[in-house]
Amino acid sequence: MTADEARSVLAVDLGGTNIRVAVVSTSGALTHRRAIATDAKDGHPSVIRRMTGLINEVAGDAGLPPMTPVGVASPGPLDPHTGVVLFTPNLPGWRDVPLGPSLSDGAGRHVSVANDGNCAVLGEMRFGAARGATNIVYLALGTGVGGGVVSNGQLVDGVRGFGAELGHTVVALDGPRCTCGGIGCLEAFVAGWAIGREGELVATTADGEAILAAAGDGPVTAGAVAAAAKAGDRAAVAILERAGHALGAAIGSFVNTFNPEIVVIGGGVAAIGDLLLKPARRAIPQYSFVANRSCMRIVRSSLGDDTALFGAAALALGTSALS
Ligand SMILES: [Zn+2]
Repeated sequence: MTADEARSVLAVDLGGTNIRVAVVSTSGALTHRRAIATDAKDGHPSVIRRMTGLINEVAGDAGLPPMTPVGVASPGPLDPHTGVVLFTPNLPGWRDVPLGPSLSDGAGRHVSVANDGNCAVLGEMRFGAARGATNIVYLALGTGVGGGVVSNGQLVDGVRGFGAELGHTVVALDGPRCTCGGIGCLEAFVAGWAIGREGELVATTADGEAILAAAGDGPVTAGAVAAAAKAGDRAAVAILERAGHALGAAIGSFVNTFNPEIVVIGGGVAAIGDLLLKPARRAIPQYSFVANRSCMRIVRSSLGDDTALFGAAALALGTSALS
């Protein structure tokens, strides 16, 4: 075993599609990466059994000692104190599932579980774009919109750990319906599904030609809207400007509430880039105090697809005597 392996943890990313496991060292080296299909339809006992198997295989391959802890980034809402997943739309049939205790029994290791947004902000602080910062807001713009907040070096997640659901911050009282049942949430403007929905509405009008062409034979997705916008289609650009404006309003509120030094934006939708982020930056001054925004910068995530793995590793390191 090398010195670096002796200071490593097992990181697990439980996603709706794949389970990914890797070894991450305190210096941020990610090795022994493995992935299998989640197959959530087989039910949670099967998923947890296969997760446990993969954790044990990776630990064996890496020669990790039994005291090496495991961090798990899971869809939420979940209770990070008990490791119980309450329910999650990404994993059908999961309700009050004791994910942490079951993995701990199966792997014989200390297991920490947190929702992926909270893991991600810890990962960005320890390994990513927010390294060195202690007041951080993280937003994941993806299929849904996740978030995480670190204030004075501590995760802000509330009495039961359900907090920092930044995607469900209301930015329009009469706005569109959100997947959470609420109205006018940030997610209902800027999530992949929300941009796709706006694209679909426009696609039925005379302005929708370019978006329809970008979608081809498939459904109108956020990717089709982004492709049409990049080609200069004004209707597609307008959809992204509206989404960006909502994002800027939300960031303005977060800046006023948390006074972060850095706002990190990750997730697949963030890859749309300036067509989304420029309108957001333009909107922020309308929704924030100048004193608060003048000490803050906005950056893209530097961890990319591995954000959840690095976040899970940061979570495990936070509870480890090795950290
Ligand atoms: Zn919502």
